[in-house]
Amino acid sequence: MLDKRLNRPPTALARRTVNGDSPLVSRWILSWIPLLKLSPMTAARTPELTPQKTLARPVSVRGWGYWSGLEVEVQFHPAAPGTGHVFVRTDLPAQPRIPVCVGNRIEVPLRTVLAQGTASVEMVEHILAALSAAGIDNCEIRVNRAEMPGMDGSSLAFTQALQEAGVERQQLTRPMLIVNSSVRLGDDASWLQAEPANAGEYHVEYQLDYSETPVIGRQTFGLTVNADSFERELASARTFLLEREAQWLRQQGLGRHVSLQDILVFDDQGPMENSLRFADECVRHKTLDLIGDLALAGCQLVGRFTAHRTGHRMNAEMVRKLIHHADLIEAVPVPVSAEEPEQATEREAIRKIA
Ligand SMILES: [Zn+2]
Repeated sequence: MLDKRLNRPPTALARRTVNGDSPLVSRWILSWIPLLKLSPMTAARTPELTPQKTLARPVSVRGWGYWSGLEVEVQFHPAAPGTGHVFVRTDLPAQPRIPVCVGNRIEVPLRTVLAQGTASVEMVEHILAALSAAGIDNCEIRVNRAEMPGMDGSSLAFTQALQEAGVERQQLTRPMLIVNSSVRLGDDASWLQAEPANAGEYHVEYQLDYSETPVIGRQTFGLTVNADSFERELASARTFLLEREAQWLRQQGLGRHVSLQDILVFDDQGPMENSLRFADECVRHKTLDLIGDLALAGCQLVGRFTAHRTGHRMNAEMVRKLIHHADLIEAVPVPVSAEEPEQATEREAIRKIA
């Protein structure tokens, strides 16, 4: 699955391993022995396998595109194990599919854009952050415009919709990209570092430096990413602009449906005609963006990421680098120990009856 999403042949992937001692998984391992070359660091840090998840039912979100000013509906649908996250442009002939992977990212200022052929989807980072943090592995995201709705500038509407949909466990384990050594990008002014983490941990920290804009100043925020921490600490943190940036965008004819109540615009005194949800809302939003960009890995990440004044481009570059420098644990059929307890109990009951 991951091979396809990274646009790379299976043999080019760095290392593979699986963890688990059920007979089912052991048989799977035997077939892979020629491929196994697991770094000792990763062997010690390999988390337990857990089932992939999709949505229990479809949900949708409607809103306006910040840049296009067009109304758009985003429908989140359940998808089969091994699908990953895939956008579908339902407004175009043949409804082209755009898989979420770093290979499909194209460089556009100030937002994350994915493209496949002539079809594209824009401003996807807040949706991907919500899906990634919610632990949803497989989802078909059907959209009827190129640009995703800006909503209030945060991931809140998407996170709430995914909660409303509920989660369903599936019969493949989650693939994982595990950072096995320190990887660093950038220079003193802007850098991003990935380091090994404890088993299963995905931790992000963002260091923001707006020293030239004292009302924002320097802010640092970090958290271990999971559905609860994301919803509580990051989902509602909104994107922000400086007054001069907002004026420039207006001059370009952008943001027709965006008022000062819809987006945080800072002048010298603070947010204009708006109030902050968190004292450090700016760095929280940058952390949200980082999670959304790292979701281009297309699978669960295990590692500690520290970002200093990075943007979408460098965040995505880290994903490209990790594909060459991290360990990959591929999906395997769910071992008995990772199933729902009820399912295991039911299986035991059937065995006893037999
Ligand atoms: Zn953002």
